[in-house]
Amino acid sequence: MESARRNSKAIKRGDRILTEQPFVFVLQAKYRKERCDNCLQACKVLKCANCQYVYYCSRDCQMQSWSLHKIECPFLKRIYPRTVPDAARMLCKLSIHLNNGGDLVRGYYTETCSRRFRELMSHYGEIKYDARRLEHLESLHAVLQDMMGDSTIVPNLAELTSIYGRLITNGFSILDPEMNSIATAIYLGVSITNHSCKPNAVATFEGTTLHIHAIEDIECLDWSKIFISYIDLLNTPAERRAELQSNYYFLCICSKCTDMQETHEMLAAACPNKKCNAFLDINLNNCPHCDTDVSPKQRNGYNEAMSITKTHLENMKDVAYLDVCKLCLAKQKGFVHPLNVWHIKTLDAAFEAAIDVSKWAEALEFSKELVPGFRKYYGDWHPLLGLLYLKIGKIQLYECQLAEAVKNLKEAQKILQVTHGRDHSLLREQLQSLLAQSIAEASA
Ligand SMILES: [Zn+2]
Ligand SMILES: [Zn+2]
Ligand SMILES: [Zn+2]
Ligand SMILES: [Zn+2]
Repeated sequence: MESARRNSKAIKRGDRILTEQPFVFVLQAKYRKERCDNCLQACKVLKCANCQYVYYCSRDCQMQSWSLHKIECPFLKRIYPRTVPDAARMLCKLSIHLNNGGDLVRGYYTETCSRRFRELMSHYGEIKYDARRLEHLESLHAVLQDMMGDSTIVPNLAELTSIYGRLITNGFSILDPEMNSIATAIYLGVSITNHSCKPNAVATFEGTTLHIHAIEDIECLDWSKIFISYIDLLNTPAERRAELQSNYYFLCICSKCTDMQETHEMLAAACPNKKCNAFLDINLNNCPHCDTDVSPKQRNGYNEAMSITKTHLENMKDVAYLDVCKLCLAKQKGFVHPLNVWHIKTLDAAFEAAIDVSKWAEALEFSKELVPGFRKYYGDWHPLLGLLYLKIGKIQLYECQLAEAVKNLKEAQKILQVTHGRDHSLLREQLQSLLAQSIAEASA
């Protein structure tokens, strides 16, 4: 009775609805020598003397992970100095854990409801017919055999397929405070959460701990009505649906994916009439809003800008160059709508590239159009919008634009309190001190 009553309590925006520790997690191999394998902290780390593969920040962290690592350690040592693919290490750790009582571990999503690893969806049927997945699994199986030899811990292929299926469709990327992916994890309870491109909740991390916060008011703790987004929302409905279908095996029918208006706005051209800000479909002969003619020159300009932008952004996936971003922005000017998703993606890349080379004034200039774009596509309560305000405020503080800095840092605080919680280190350590410093300097 007690728990039933508590579960039916209304949830307010900013409430933490779930906190969970990972069932199993793996630090991405590329961070192996700069982050602790146990707490994921970026700091000075020392390697495990036996396998020479994993690194820890402290004796404490090494001790904490020992119960699992002592079994994994000889396997890693066996194939040293090869780098183990993250998914292979994840399968290895999952097999070890499941073989050592992990199959009985429960993750709770309400006070009384829980699930075990084998209760997660495995999508066995789909994977069996998915050539891309089967090929991936086969390559991972080969790595596992090299690592683990004929150890009895290695599951048979059918069992491995179902573990793999649960991993790929329920796996979470653990993000650092800057929202960069640093590790892969399985959270048993949280995996109950469904996807929507218009979510009412968000997952954020403190180390390896996952928190789910409500970003809208929700009637009660009913997991069939709580949604997070599994994917990047800065993509068109067709791209999002394709990603969800191939990675999670479902067709998204959320309100944003079924609304044709969203695709139209995301790909909109600018109206040739400078005073009109309608989202223009470039294939029309004139603007339905102001009736201005769309000339072939306008159409060519739009098509060229879009194609150049797509090519360059694709090529700059890992590192964006400021001059290339600026070239794309120049091509877009007057042809592509300011809220077109490719314009926003370009601004996002340009903003980060300008910060990388300390061009603060340029970064602030890009942020002016970036903020409304993020707000439109990510929504008012998204960690990335909060982080954007935080970065803008930080730059303004260093540029001595103090009143503006205070305003933007307060906006960051308002959003991040909801998405991360007031007690999150991002707020306690970074944001509070920047805000205090801005306020002090502004009143000095
Ligand atoms: Zn550590
Ligand atoms: Zn070791
Ligand atoms: Zn959707
Ligand atoms: Zn118009």
